[in-house]
Amino acid sequence: MTLRIRPDLDSLPTYVPGKNFPGALKLASNEVVEPPLPAVTEAIAAAATGINRYPDNGAVALTEALATALGVTTDQIQAGCGSVMLCQNLITITSGPGDEVLFGWRSFETYPLATRVAGATPVQVPLTGDAVYDLEAMAAAITDRTRLIFICNPNNPTGTVVEAADLRRFLERVPDDLIVALDEAYIEYTRPDQAHAYDALELRREFPNVVVLRTFSKAYGLAGLRVGYAVADPQVITALGKVHVPFSVNSLAQVAAIAALGAREQLLARTDLVAAERGRVTDALRQAGYRVADSQANFVWLELGEEAAPFAAAATAAGLVVRPFAGEGVRVTVTVPTENDVFLDFARNWIR
Ligand code: PMP
Repeated sequence: MTLRIRPDLDSLPTYVPGKNFPGALKLASNEVVEPPLPAVTEAIAAAATGINRYPDNGAVALTEALATALGVTTDQIQAGCGSVMLCQNLITITSGPGDEVLFGWRSFETYPLATRVAGATPVQVPLTGDAVYDLEAMAAAITDRTRLIFICNPNNPTGTVVEAADLRRFLERVPDDLIVALDEAYIEYTRPDQAHAYDALELRREFPNVVVLRTFSKAYGLAGLRVGYAVADPQVITALGKVHVPFSVNSLAQVAAIAALGAREQLLARTDLVAAERGRVTDALRQAGYRVADSQANFVWLELGEEAAPFAAAATAAGLVVRPFAGEGVRVTVTVPTENDVFLDFARNWIR
């Protein structure tokens, strides 16, 4: 007997995170290797005594801390159970059957998946030859059915960033009632030159249809607790509040995020090492003959085409977990020098 489950879900892939196994060096999920700061674990321990109670559904203290840190008002912020939940909820508040959600491809897998779960149509615009979001082509792909646009910057999995002037030109072309979600999950790792430097919050003030998505999972080191946030026009925040899964940002996550925000300078200082290492890793891989995109994130993208799957399988056999995208490439997290060296040794010795 087939149960009454939506048949259109049959054709959807299941989200497959990077596989892990005991003893493996995990370079598949763009996490930080450093353990949480004592200030964070202490806040979690203190809050743990209260977990018989529901969390604050409005995450008021976290929202206030974010508003202060970002220089915006609290009605412009929505916390979520990871920014992935906010991606989903943005689709929910904008799009349904017959509507289009536009984004570059290859990019974050949640965009097409959540769009299809909503019954809407993903419109995937190929990246440029340099693996960058093609904003010209995306502007041309907007139709009167487009309800939401994602720009992933830096882009997962390529690590590439758009030029600030291109982004501005794009926003000027987008209808001013069409929401553009600027997914900045990895923004803390960027070290932009003049061509790529922009301030998303400034852009958001100028273009009220821009939504900025950020997360505590990457540079802030709280991937296991699931906290992200959106900065947006109060209209968007009100709508996001309506579709918010009640209590989905748990109480430990809320206090940990506040503590991490309080230790922001210390945490962000760690990104310097990753930024330096990503340059070193990229150079070494290119010297070894790999085609590697210019990354501004905490990972590198090896354009391996059909060799992506065998490369990842060989890495697994060598105890390294990397993230293959079959037929396209492999994404590898950049962490500390000792771990990066283990990966580089593997990559240099891999025989095609
Ligand atoms: N956006 C991008 C581009 C990502 O790569 C990720 C994590 N893989 C997310 C959003 C979601 O992150 P989280 O849900 O952990 O906040």
